[in-house]
Amino acid sequence: MPKTTLAPDHAKAMILAVADAVIAAEPYLSEADRNLGDGDHGLGMQRGFTAVKEKIGTLGAEEAIDKIFSAAGMAMISSMGGASGALFGTLFRDGGKALAGRADLDAAGLAAFLRGACDGVQARGKAQPGDKTMVDALHPAAARAAELTGLSLPEAIDAVAAAAEAGREASKAMIATLGRAKTLGEASIGHPDAGACSVVVILGAMREYINA
Ligand code: ADP
Ligand code: MG
Repeated sequence: MPKTTLAPDHAKAMILAVADAVIAAEPYLSEADRNLGDGDHGLGMQRGFTAVKEKIGTLGAEEAIDKIFSAAGMAMISSMGGASGALFGTLFRDGGKALAGRADLDAAGLAAFLRGACDGVQARGKAQPGDKTMVDALHPAAARAAELTGLSLPEAIDAVAAAAEAGREASKAMIATLGRAKTLGEASIGHPDAGACSVVVILGAMREYINA
Protein backbone atom coordinates (compact mmCIF):
# COMPACT_ATOMS: atom_id res chain seq x y z
CA MET A 1 0.00 0.00 0.00
CA PRO A 2 1.47 3.40 -0.96
CA LYS A 3 2.02 5.54 2.14
CA THR A 4 0.13 8.85 2.18
CA THR A 5 2.11 10.20 5.15
CA LEU A 6 5.23 9.03 6.95
CA ALA A 7 5.17 8.93 10.74
CA PRO A 8 8.59 9.06 12.48
CA ASP A 9 8.94 5.26 12.44
CA HIS A 10 8.29 5.23 8.70
CA ALA A 11 10.78 8.05 8.20
CA LYS A 12 13.45 6.02 9.98
CA ALA A 13 12.64 2.96 7.88
CA MET A 14 12.75 5.07 4.70
CA ILE A 15 16.18 6.49 5.60
CA LEU A 16 17.45 2.94 6.23
CA ALA A 17 16.12 1.94 2.79
CA VAL A 18 17.84 4.98 1.24
CA ALA A 19 21.07 3.99 3.01
CA ASP A 20 20.89 0.44 1.62
CA ALA A 21 20.24 1.78 -1.89
CA VAL A 22 23.18 4.21 -1.74
CA ILE A 23 25.50 1.52 -0.34
CA ALA A 24 24.43 -0.87 -3.13
CA ALA A 25 24.96 1.87 -5.74
CA GLU A 26 28.65 2.27 -4.82
CA PRO A 27 29.98 0.86 -8.14
CA TYR A 28 27.65 3.13 -10.16
CA LEU A 29 28.56 6.25 -8.14
CA SER A 30 32.28 5.45 -8.18
CA GLU A 31 32.18 4.99 -11.95
CA ALA A 32 30.40 8.34 -12.38
CA ASP A 33 33.10 10.06 -10.31
CA ARG A 34 35.88 8.22 -12.19
CA ASN A 35 34.62 9.76 -15.42
CA LEU A 36 34.84 13.33 -14.11
CA GLY A 37 36.71 13.33 -10.80
CA ASP A 38 38.87 11.08 -8.63
CA GLY A 39 36.53 8.09 -8.34
CA ASP A 40 35.97 8.21 -4.59
CA HIS A 41 32.37 9.42 -4.51
CA GLY A 42 30.74 6.00 -4.20
CA LEU A 43 33.00 4.98 -1.33
CA GLY A 44 32.41 8.28 0.47
CA MET A 45 28.64 7.89 0.15
CA GLN A 46 28.90 4.29 1.30
CA ARG A 47 30.86 5.36 4.38
CA GLY A 48 28.41 8.15 5.14
CA PHE A 49 25.31 6.00 4.84
CA THR A 50 26.85 3.23 6.91
CA ALA A 51 27.22 5.84 9.68
CA VAL A 52 23.62 6.93 9.03
CA LYS A 53 22.38 3.38 9.62
CA GLU A 54 24.24 3.19 12.93
CA LYS A 55 22.90 6.59 14.01
CA ILE A 56 19.28 5.81 13.12
CA GLY A 57 19.53 2.65 15.23
CA THR A 58 20.40 4.73 18.32
CA LEU A 59 17.42 7.13 18.07
CA GLY A 60 14.60 6.75 20.57
CA ALA A 61 11.00 6.09 19.58
CA GLU A 62 10.03 9.63 20.70
CA GLU A 63 12.39 11.35 18.23
CA ALA A 64 10.54 13.87 16.02
CA ILE A 65 10.73 13.72 12.25
CA ASP A 66 12.94 16.81 11.85
CA LYS A 67 15.47 15.40 14.30
CA ILE A 68 15.57 12.04 12.50
CA PHE A 69 16.61 13.59 9.17
CA SER A 70 18.98 16.05 10.86
CA ALA A 71 20.66 13.25 12.82
CA ALA A 72 21.26 11.42 9.54
CA GLY A 73 22.85 14.57 8.12
CA MET A 74 25.10 15.03 11.14
CA ALA A 75 26.22 11.40 10.91
CA MET A 76 27.23 12.01 7.29
CA ILE A 77 29.05 15.26 8.05
CA SER A 78 31.13 13.63 10.79
CA SER A 79 31.93 10.41 8.90
CA MET A 80 32.38 11.18 5.21
CA GLY A 81 34.81 14.08 4.88
CA GLY A 82 35.55 15.63 1.48
CA ALA A 83 33.47 18.05 -0.51
CA SER A 84 30.46 15.83 -0.74
CA GLY A 85 30.46 14.76 2.94
CA ALA A 86 29.71 18.31 3.97
CA LEU A 87 27.28 18.81 1.08
CA PHE A 88 25.22 15.60 1.37
CA GLY A 89 25.30 15.91 5.16
CA THR A 90 23.97 19.44 4.80
CA LEU A 91 21.24 18.18 2.46
CA PHE A 92 19.81 15.94 5.20
CA ARG A 93 20.60 18.23 8.14
CA ASP A 94 19.06 21.37 6.66
CA GLY A 95 16.23 19.44 4.98
CA GLY A 96 15.49 18.00 8.43
CA LYS A 97 15.55 21.42 10.09
CA ALA A 98 12.92 22.59 7.62
CA LEU A 99 10.56 19.90 8.99
CA ALA A 100 10.50 21.36 12.52
CA GLY A 101 6.99 21.35 13.96
CA ARG A 102 5.65 18.67 11.58
CA ALA A 103 4.36 15.45 13.13
CA ASP A 104 4.82 13.47 9.92
CA LEU A 105 5.88 13.78 6.29
CA ASP A 106 3.32 14.50 3.55
CA ALA A 107 3.71 16.18 0.14
CA ALA A 108 4.00 19.63 1.76
CA GLY A 109 6.63 18.24 4.12
CA LEU A 110 8.53 16.75 1.19
CA ALA A 111 8.56 20.20 -0.44
CA ALA A 112 9.77 21.82 2.80
CA PHE A 113 12.49 19.18 3.16
CA LEU A 114 13.76 19.65 -0.38
CA ARG A 115 13.63 23.47 -0.19
CA GLY A 116 15.67 23.43 3.04
CA ALA A 117 18.03 20.83 1.59
CA CYS A 118 18.66 22.71 -1.64
CA ASP A 119 19.04 26.10 0.05
CA GLY A 120 21.49 24.57 2.54
CA VAL A 121 23.58 22.87 -0.14
CA GLN A 122 23.69 26.03 -2.25
CA ALA A 123 24.60 28.21 0.75
CA ARG A 124 27.43 25.84 1.62
CA GLY A 125 28.83 25.04 -1.82
CA LYS A 126 27.80 28.14 -3.79
CA ALA A 127 26.71 26.06 -6.79
CA GLN A 128 24.03 27.37 -9.11
CA PRO A 129 21.96 25.24 -11.49
CA GLY A 130 24.10 24.64 -14.59
CA ASP A 131 27.43 24.27 -12.74
CA LYS A 132 27.21 20.47 -13.20
CA THR A 133 26.89 19.43 -9.55
CA MET A 134 24.37 17.65 -7.31
CA VAL A 135 22.39 20.92 -7.39
CA ASP A 136 21.42 20.10 -11.00
CA ALA A 137 19.32 17.20 -9.70
CA LEU A 138 18.34 18.68 -6.33
CA HIS A 139 17.15 22.09 -7.54
CA PRO A 140 14.62 20.79 -10.11
CA ALA A 141 13.41 18.23 -7.55
CA ALA A 142 12.80 20.98 -4.98
CA ALA A 143 11.09 23.18 -7.57
CA ARG A 144 8.81 20.33 -8.68
CA ALA A 145 7.93 19.48 -5.06
CA ALA A 146 6.91 23.09 -4.42
CA GLU A 147 4.33 22.80 -7.23
CA LEU A 148 2.85 19.57 -5.86
CA THR A 149 2.06 20.27 -2.22
CA GLY A 150 -1.64 19.54 -2.83
CA LEU A 151 -1.01 16.04 -4.18
CA SER A 152 -0.68 12.82 -2.23
CA LEU A 153 2.82 11.89 -1.05
CA PRO A 154 3.13 8.95 -3.51
CA GLU A 155 2.15 11.17 -6.46
CA ALA A 156 4.50 13.93 -5.32
CA ILE A 157 7.54 11.68 -4.81
CA ASP A 158 6.97 10.09 -8.23
CA ALA A 159 7.15 13.46 -9.96
CA VAL A 160 9.99 14.71 -7.76
CA ALA A 161 12.15 11.64 -8.43
CA ALA A 162 11.46 12.02 -12.16
CA ALA A 163 12.52 15.69 -11.99
CA ALA A 164 15.80 14.67 -10.35
CA GLU A 165 16.38 12.06 -13.09
CA ALA A 166 15.76 14.66 -15.77
CA GLY A 167 18.22 16.96 -13.98
CA ARG A 168 20.87 14.24 -13.89
CA GLU A 169 20.37 13.61 -17.61
CA ALA A 170 20.60 17.37 -18.32
CA SER A 171 23.89 17.51 -16.38
CA LYS A 172 25.50 15.39 -19.13
CA ALA A 173 25.52 18.34 -21.51
CA MET A 174 26.91 20.81 -18.94
CA ILE A 175 30.50 21.99 -18.59
CA ALA A 176 31.68 21.66 -15.00
CA THR A 177 32.52 24.97 -13.37
CA LEU A 178 32.94 23.82 -9.72
CA GLY A 179 34.69 21.00 -7.86
CA ARG A 180 37.33 18.67 -9.30
CA ALA A 181 35.61 18.29 -12.68
CA LYS A 182 36.18 22.00 -13.36
CA THR A 183 39.71 21.32 -14.62
CA LEU A 184 38.29 19.13 -17.41
CA GLY A 185 36.46 22.02 -19.05
CA GLU A 186 34.70 20.87 -22.21
CA ALA A 187 35.94 17.31 -21.66
CA SER A 188 33.33 17.08 -18.89
CA ILE A 189 30.57 17.10 -21.52
CA GLY A 190 28.84 13.75 -22.05
CA HIS A 191 28.96 12.36 -18.50
CA PRO A 192 26.43 12.98 -15.73
CA ASP A 193 27.66 14.57 -12.50
CA ALA A 194 28.34 11.98 -9.76
CA GLY A 195 26.60 13.98 -7.04
CA ALA A 196 23.53 14.35 -9.26
CA CYS A 197 23.59 10.56 -9.67
CA SER A 198 23.55 10.24 -5.86
CA VAL A 199 20.58 12.58 -5.54
CA VAL A 200 18.70 10.37 -8.03
CA VAL A 201 19.57 7.23 -6.03
CA ILE A 202 18.37 8.90 -2.80
CA LEU A 203 15.07 10.17 -4.22
CA GLY A 204 14.51 6.94 -6.17
CA ALA A 205 14.83 4.93 -2.96
CA MET A 206 12.38 7.29 -1.25
CA ARG A 207 9.95 6.76 -4.14
CA GLU A 208 10.29 3.01 -3.85
CA TYR A 209 9.76 3.04 -0.08
CA ILE A 210 6.75 5.36 -0.23
CA ASN A 211 5.11 3.41 -3.04
CA ALA A 212 5.77 -0.05 -1.60
P1 ADP B 1 35.46 15.11 -4.00
O1 ADP B 1 35.17 16.09 -5.08
O2 ADP B 1 36.05 15.75 -2.76
O3 ADP B 1 36.23 13.91 -4.49
P2 ADP B 1 33.10 13.49 -4.09
O4 ADP B 1 33.75 12.78 -5.20
O5 ADP B 1 32.57 12.66 -2.98
O6 ADP B 1 34.04 14.60 -3.47
O7 ADP B 1 31.87 14.33 -4.63
C1 ADP B 1 31.91 14.97 -5.87
C2 ADP B 1 30.55 15.61 -6.07
O8 ADP B 1 30.38 16.68 -5.15
C3 ADP B 1 30.40 16.24 -7.44
O9 ADP B 1 29.98 15.28 -8.36
C4 ADP B 1 29.36 17.33 -7.19
O10 ADP B 1 28.04 16.84 -7.37
C5 ADP B 1 29.53 17.64 -5.72
N1 ADP B 1 30.12 18.95 -5.52
C6 ADP B 1 31.42 19.29 -5.55
N2 ADP B 1 31.57 20.61 -5.29
C7 ADP B 1 30.32 21.12 -5.11
C8 ADP B 1 29.78 22.41 -4.79
N3 ADP B 1 30.57 23.48 -4.59
N4 ADP B 1 28.43 22.53 -4.67
C9 ADP B 1 27.62 21.46 -4.85
N5 ADP B 1 28.07 20.22 -5.13
C10 ADP B 1 29.40 20.05 -5.26
MG1 MG C 1 35.56 12.46 -5.85
